[in-house]
Amino acid sequence: MRIAIFSDIHANLEALGAVLADAKEQNCDNYICLGDVVGYNADPSACLDIIREMGCPVVKGNHDMDCGHDTSLEMMNPVAAEALQWTREQLTPDQRKWLARLRMVRQVQDFSIVHSTLDQPTSWNYVTNKFDAIANFTYQVSPVCFHGHTHVPRIFIRDQKQVKEAPAESIQIEEGKKYFINTGSVGQPRDGDWRASYAIYELTTHTINFRRIEYDLETAQQKILDAGLPESLAERIGLGM
Ligand code: ZN
Repeated sequence: MRIAIFSDIHANLEALGAVLADAKEQNCDNYICLGDVVGYNADPSACLDIIREMGCPVVKGNHDMDCGHDTSLEMMNPVAAEALQWTREQLTPDQRKWLARLRMVRQVQDFSIVHSTLDQPTSWNYVTNKFDAIANFTYQVSPVCFHGHTHVPRIFIRDQKQVKEAPAESIQIEEGKKYFINTGSVGQPRDGDWRASYAIYELTTHTINFRRIEYDLETAQQKILDAGLPESLAERIGLGM
């Protein structure tokens, strides 16, 4: 079984299409979405419908929560708040209900999935270094857990002695260790590389491969501008920031 695992699509239809095409070419037969289907970019409705129709396991991201519910946007940074308000207006009540009903944590096969962390999934903590990862590992029962949220692909490994970070490259899962793996972002990468990021988990060999996929960036950027969304959102997907 080869599972394509992806996160933080953020309404980038061009990036999502390119990732799904690549996953098919790579013979993936299952799919998992780690949340933040919507927010920031210009195609929330189309991206949501694609993920919903796929019927794959999905966990809730903070943007999914903010768009699914009528939470106050006052405390949010103005660019994110403007994009969220716009996104809410693009979605039907039924689509918003689907977002609101997504679960925070799920168990799939022998691994778990969450948008941010297992210790406090509703606090939306960012895991940017091995110290941030320690609390998650205390709640991680399964050998492997996939997450997103920071938009940066990362691998954290806990063995008997310590927690360490490994480069986000191909990795073989070893017995006796635990892995907390960020697959990066499909629609708004923030590691300086604009290409869509996702990972493939080969269950029979216990290997995980990270992939970076080029997509039609210009179209995605033009749609953001045409929608009247903040210009900085078009700029940042070109920079991978
Ligand atoms: Zn996100």
